[in-house]
Amino acid sequence: MSEPSPASCSPVPQMLEAHQKYCHACAAVLDQRAEICPRCGVRQMAPASAGLVPTRSGRTRMAAALFAFFLGGLGAHKFYLGQPGMGILYLVFCWTFIPSIVALIEGVVLLTQSDEAFAAKYG
Ligand SMILES: [Zn+2]
Repeated sequence: MSEPSPASCSPVPQMLEAHQKYCHACAAVLDQRAEICPRCGVRQMAPASAGLVPTRSGRTRMAAALFAFFLGGLGAHKFYLGQPGMGILYLVFCWTFIPSIVALIEGVVLLTQSDEAFAAKYG
């Protein structure tokens, strides 16, 4: 419909949409989830480790951490992370409150680790 803008090759950054980001090497506009810049080939850093990047199995680090914090004493995060055996163990011992303490620590670990480490472990 509209003519292509003659300024398309200017270095002035375009407005970013919500799902976009700049390449940190060449400032090309990339998809938020892009790992490699198609223009300069530089690998992009993980998006500020928001914990919202789903793994292959659709799990997110943030959801796992929230489960650990709020329902960790019942092993909810273990069920979520595909470790039902551990989850049942937490359930059985929930009355000791030890699983709650362990889950709290695990929640902190989940919050502080990188999305890549999370995906490697629970992908
Ligand atoms: Zn680039």
